[in-house]
Amino acid sequence: MGIQVKEQVLLAPFTTMRVGGNARFFARVGTVDELSEAVFFARSKNLPIFILGGGSNTLVSGAGFFGLVIKIEFKGITYKNNHITAGAGVVWDEVVSDVVAHNLCGIENLSLIPGTVGGAAVQNIGAYGVEACDTIFSVEAFDMKTTQTKIFLRAECEFGYRESIFKKNKNLVVTRVTFELAQNGTPRADYEDVKNYFAERGIKSPALGEIREAIVAIRTWKMPAPGIGTAGSFFKNPVVSVPEYEALKNELPEIKGYLQADNSVKLSAGWLLDHAGKWRGVRRQGAGVHEKNALILVNYGTATAEEILSLTDEMKSDIKEKTGVLLEEEVILVKS
Ligand SMILES: Cc1cc2nc3c(=O)[nH]c(=O)nc-3n(C[C@H](O)[C@H](O)[C@H](O)COP(=O)(O)OP(=O)(O)OC[C@H]3O[C@@H](n4cnc5c(N)ncnc54)[C@H](O)[C@@H]3O)c2cc1C
Repeated sequence: MGIQVKEQVLLAPFTTMRVGGNARFFARVGTVDELSEAVFFARSKNLPIFILGGGSNTLVSGAGFFGLVIKIEFKGITYKNNHITAGAGVVWDEVVSDVVAHNLCGIENLSLIPGTVGGAAVQNIGAYGVEACDTIFSVEAFDMKTTQTKIFLRAECEFGYRESIFKKNKNLVVTRVTFELAQNGTPRADYEDVKNYFAERGIKSPALGEIREAIVAIRTWKMPAPGIGTAGSFFKNPVVSVPEYEALKNELPEIKGYLQADNSVKLSAGWLLDHAGKWRGVRRQGAGVHEKNALILVNYGTATAEEILSLTDEMKSDIKEKTGVLLEEEVILVKS
């Protein structure tokens, strides 16, 4: 059965930010054959392609996208001992909920992160001391250039902080991801918010299900209410060298820095915004900064991508001027 290619599809409802114009063409694919067909359609018309998952890390410009948007809908979750494989279009949190119910440990701290399994591998999502790459065993991806499907073992995925080979090489479309989880493993509860949550409740060794409940509760409290458009953290935490960090510390003695395995230092973008700019709660037209977290940009209902970008440019200039650090977007901008 052939794919259905629609014309002039409004992209805003396909993103959690809920802004943006039309895709010139739009197709949903759930198999490699459908994906090949969609790629062939775009190539034969010389159109650019944008691969869309859950749209939770994507900001679409008002002008939309003058090409083919391919929405990834590969489904299914299968278990083989402690290896679980999920289609790239499966909702990420459905996988987390499912594996926790199977008493498999390793991704519970990534509970309630929006988006798809494919998006999680591309972005190497992270939260509460855990990253997707900690448990990813392999990723199956379709190469739009060669039209071949290949399995990438974890070491070949070039994972880094919100980085992967699938993000760098735009020809690679993630179709399936396999995770290696631990049966009867010990969940991580050492991240500050999580530790405090259990200390307040007098729980010493939380069970897997309790960790998921804690993360869901903490995130629900911290994130904008359902219905408010957002793409989560708009900026990445900046990474600097040790000498750069030391120079910053001279100027800003309270600055927080976390030494990384590669000897770089990760700064907290949230701290920089709070310290230098007092950005929380700032509002410009329909766009604003969340009151509980300066990293989170929100659409109060009428924002355009251009209003959001004008506000984020203002924030970036302010931090650059006051600290010398350039904030980089975590959110992917889609424009023609
Ligand atoms: C409220 C909220 C909270 C969030 N919290 C976190 C958090 O704690 N930690 C965190 O890391 N992120 C967080 N995010 C960001 C977001 O949820 C993740 O980046 C998510 O993995 C994006 O997945 P997606 O399917 O929605 O990707 P999309 O937004 O659809 O796409 C993101 C990028 O990945 C590409 N892509 C998507 N699917 C594929 C695929 N199958 N193959 C190839 N490329 C693909 C797209 O082309 C695009 O470049 C949050 C977002 C929101 C809205």
